Amino acid sequence: MTTHSPASAALFARALTVTPGGVNSPVRAFRSVGGTPRFMASGRGAWITDVDGKHYVDLVGSWGPMILGHSHPDVIAAVTDAVSRGLSFGTPGEGEVLLAEEIVRRVAPVEQVRLVSSGTEATMSAVRLARGFTKRTKVVKFAGCYHGHVDALLASAGSGVATLALPDSAGVPATTTADVIVVPYNDIAAVELAFSKYGDEIACVITEAAAANMGVVPPLPGFNKMLAEIAHRNGALLISDEVMTGFRLSRAGMYGLEAAGLDPVAQGWAPDLLTFGKVIGGGLPVGAFGGRADVMALLAPEGPVYQAGTLSGNPVATAAGLANLRGLNDTVYAHLNETANTVGRLVSDALYAAGVPNRLQRAGNLFSIFFTAEQVFNYDDAREQESFRYAAFFHSMLDAGIYLPPSAFEAWFVSAAHDDLALQQIADALPAAAAAAASATPARA
Ligand SMILES: *Cc1c(COP(=O)(O)O)cnc(C)c1O
Repeated sequence: MTTHSPASAALFARALTVTPGGVNSPVRAFRSVGGTPRFMASGRGAWITDVDGKHYVDLVGSWGPMILGHSHPDVIAAVTDAVSRGLSFGTPGEGEVLLAEEIVRRVAPVEQVRLVSSGTEATMSAVRLARGFTKRTKVVKFAGCYHGHVDALLASAGSGVATLALPDSAGVPATTTADVIVVPYNDIAAVELAFSKYGDEIACVITEAAAANMGVVPPLPGFNKMLAEIAHRNGALLISDEVMTGFRLSRAGMYGLEAAGLDPVAQGWAPDLLTFGKVIGGGLPVGAFGGRADVMALLAPEGPVYQAGTLSGNPVATAAGLANLRGLNDTVYAHLNETANTVGRLVSDALYAAGVPNRLQRAGNLFSIFFTAEQVFNYDDAREQESFRYAAFFHSMLDAGIYLPPSAFEAWFVSAAHDDLALQQIADALPAAAAAAASATPARA
């Protein structure tokens, strides 16, 4: 941690006086890796530049939206054009129709969609809608799956089979999470058990289409399909949270990969509701939820489930999202897959060469490295890893100009703009970072 970043350090000091922890979203504070967060000033393609003028190959991509790379000319042009016509009207506009049509066209189970301003709003609204549709209250979620900071969904502790959850965050009343049943990811027996106990009270199962907020933990073959079957057998809905995976893993996200036969066991099924965010905003605040028309019909003003937003369907945000989606074609997805494969292998091989046991896990072009020799199936497995090695690895890479997620429990993101130059810079940085990981020791408790 020898890099001097005086401009970032000065901004961080000011930020700390006016903003809790100096950041507007916790992981940005570098708490789990230590050191001073880098304040970014600009980005182009695969590269971002901090306020000290240092360049980095970006493997975060704003946590997903920058799938075409930073400052993509088509996205910038679409936004500039929208801005020139006004920022917000609080009325319907053409951009919302175009973006909704694009989503419906790409994702078969989505017959109708509503736009919101974040992934959190999307999952919050989808759960409300599922409860309104089924006239039931309980929700099944998986330990280690993140669905935004919705009060009820901040329950992921207490991952014992079908135990009623305790809140993960202060300020979330136990009464709010009492209706949430947390079960281990990839554990169908635990889901069956939850339904055998509470079947006629369960409104929905919510799952990440592929878990990517505890590191990347893909669903076992047929897992998502089984969730749909169990939910439907019990009169409940399946909400597939594709806020991170949607439009990233394929034209139709993780659902598209499964429906396309990558997972043959999973064919012939569909979630009832899907949630989106990240990629569909192109870097501006957009979320969405959609699915079966008969369920969506319950939303106000059609039906009794209230949901609204002053900036929902904002013309500038929808223009960015639409341009982002239009830039995503088969060539881009092939490049993303290949790049993810290359980077993942480079990292894993470098760590092995340095004697560091590790596990590369992928869901399409999303991947992460676990510092463990064992395959990771769920949150308990993920927490078994030697995450203390990650801080040393992260800072060595950062010094060498590679910007990784500042936590061992986050996915890595590649973009259409990651080219041979970016890959070479990553490859060059790896031996030293792997050596740093190898010699890292656990922080004393
Ligand atoms: C990022 C994320 C969310 C929350 O989206 P925000 O836009 O940050 O509110 C919800 N679900 C998943 C799976 C996510 O990755």
